[in-house]
Amino acid sequence: MKNPKKLPLIFLITLVGSLLLLYWFGERWLRVMLLYLSTAVWAQYLVTQTGLAWRVASRFIAGETVDDAIAAARTVNSRGLAATLNYLGEHVHTPQEAANARDEIVRLLDCIHQSGVEANVSVKPSQLGLNIDPVLLYENLHVVLDRARQTNNRVRIDMEESSTVDTTLGIYRRLRDDDGYGRHVGVVIQAYLFRSAQDIAALVAEGAWVRLCKGAYAEPPEVAFPQKADTDASFVQLAQTMLSAGARQRGVFPCFATHDETMVQAIRQFVQVQQIPLDAFEFQMLYGIRRELQEQLAAQGYRVRVYIPYGTAWYPYFVRRLAERPANLWFFIGNLLR
Ligand SMILES: Cc1cc2nc3c(=O)[nH]c(=O)nc-3n(C[C@H](O)[C@H](O)[C@H](O)COP(=O)(O)OP(=O)(O)OC[C@H]3O[C@@H](n4cnc5c(N)ncnc54)[C@H](O)[C@@H]3O)c2cc1C
Repeated sequence: MKNPKKLPLIFLITLVGSLLLLYWFGERWLRVMLLYLSTAVWAQYLVTQTGLAWRVASRFIAGETVDDAIAAARTVNSRGLAATLNYLGEHVHTPQEAANARDEIVRLLDCIHQSGVEANVSVKPSQLGLNIDPVLLYENLHVVLDRARQTNNRVRIDMEESSTVDTTLGIYRRLRDDDGYGRHVGVVIQAYLFRSAQDIAALVAEGAWVRLCKGAYAEPPEVAFPQKADTDASFVQLAQTMLSAGARQRGVFPCFATHDETMVQAIRQFVQVQQIPLDAFEFQMLYGIRRELQEQLAAQGYRVRVYIPYGTAWYPYFVRRLAERPANLWFFIGNLLR
């Protein structure tokens, strides 16, 4: 780049363009634009080189080191909430990068064990080599799960783009069943995908440890509901399947990852009517988002887990959070201008 001082300005111009999109075409197009920016190398370069964006990003991210993550988990625990720690990073390009991420995650499991915080771990498949070679992902997860078993902990495999779902589920099942990691490994299903009703039915029959979320990526209308209302309806329906008596008999422990009060309320009503014990499932929310709702639910006796990311590769995670809520974007721009 010829003039790094102009970089924030260029990104700002792009954001203003996004806001004009919002004005002319509505929130859906703004989200599409931001999700594009979350994967654009040029935008990542512009934002992360300046250091300005970290001021805002740090609201969603515990810090850069494993010590920061453990400290955040301790704070979250002191508020009556459990944690899941995530070493940031995705779409690595070389086996060495995937191995580095694997080693950091093993170290994270050790640190959780030594510190005694109430936390498990979430990992992204593309961080451990999915896009290089699925065998590499499988082998790296094997190493991570060995340490999870040794330290009596659990690892959740996050779900990424729809094109990766089959491979991710295949590797998850192989590790869970063939390699015997059983309850040490879990997976995620995204309510916005058409296929998810079938996936949830199968996973429930297998007694799997599943997190349900709405889905955070830009997906074409051939595979995912374009309208939020349809995704919301799907989320509620899948949540009810995960909470059914049959699912609980098979040992399913449902985890509902949402900040949406309508979703939370629908689940609360269902468990009340069905007389499901409050410790038979958990709510999950992201670090820095809807903190008061997290605490309110915990105070009412619900289990709540906070997803705490840390590390230097925060850009894509951060921009996906902007895409989820336009108000975050105003906050971001306000800080850039200050
Ligand atoms: C613990 C956890 C794990 C996740 N794992 C995955 C995964 O593996 N794969 C995947 O695709 N997605 C994952 N997600 C992201 C998820 O798919 C959604 O993109 C995200 O949670 C927003 O959806 P929502 O259910 O909160 O509801 P929305 O309908 O997006 O939002 C409802 C309300 O929640 C609040 N809110 C939502 N997002 C934000 C935000 N960023 N900042 C401030 N307020 C906000 C706002 O008040 C908003 O009006 C995860 C989310 C959580 C909480």
